[in-house]
Amino acid sequence: GLHYFNVLGTALILTMLAGCYHYLIDRAQAALRAMASTDPLTQLRNRRSVFEAIRREESRVRRGQPHLSFVLCDLDHFKAINDRRGHDAGDDVLKCVSESLLAGVRDVDYVARWGGEEFLAVLPDTDTQGAALVADRLRRSVEALTPKVGSECLRVTDTLGIATLADGETAEQAIARADAALYEGKRGGRNRVVVAAAP
Ligand code: GH3
Ligand code: MG
Ligand code: MG
Repeated sequence: GLHYFNVLGTALILTMLAGCYHYLIDRAQAALRAMASTDPLTQLRNRRSVFEAIRREESRVRRGQPHLSFVLCDLDHFKAINDRRGHDAGDDVLKCVSESLLAGVRDVDYVARWGGEEFLAVLPDTDTQGAALVADRLRRSVEALTPKVGSECLRVTDTLGIATLADGETAEQAIARADAALYEGKRGGRNRVVVAAAP
């Protein structure tokens, strides 16, 4: 009896230890996955993670789903904020803008930190006209922000370029068109939305 008790007891303890071990490994893996796909400053998706989403949405378009639009957004004269108020103030502005962008899109849309002070919104099932409405709403919401730095409220604006995925075009090509539109907006005076020319 004692012998069986020992064997069963040991088996039970080993099973419990294995369960604990599995749980800890799963948790660590989930944490690593989240870290690998999230921008640490803004908590938005990073470029790698948004590209995974873009690939999924791209294949939906190829299967006949309508329209996939990209809105690329770059803060205006952001370097001046860093230079005048310091890098930490710049970081606070980036966090504030990120929250505003995320709040300004639908749940099915994606917002990512594309680069330093550049953000990408991916809008499934949205044509150029719809994307232009979203982009202008985002532009106005950023313009209305008053990120607080010390006792002062800063102001910031952004310029946005829009492109809708065209037939036979890759997402990278559409985003490059959005980028060209954005730079046209910068040259045109900033704080505006520019729709990309057709490919
Ligand atoms: P433009 O209107 O033409 O876009 O001018 P800009 O000053 O915004 O553009 P520029 O490319 O000259 O400068 C971008 C600045 O963004 C420079 C860089 O130091 C700053 N930046 C990039 N990433 C971060 C970050 O994570 N935190 C802070 N505080 N600043 C950043
Ligand atoms: Mg930039
Ligand atoms: Mg900029």
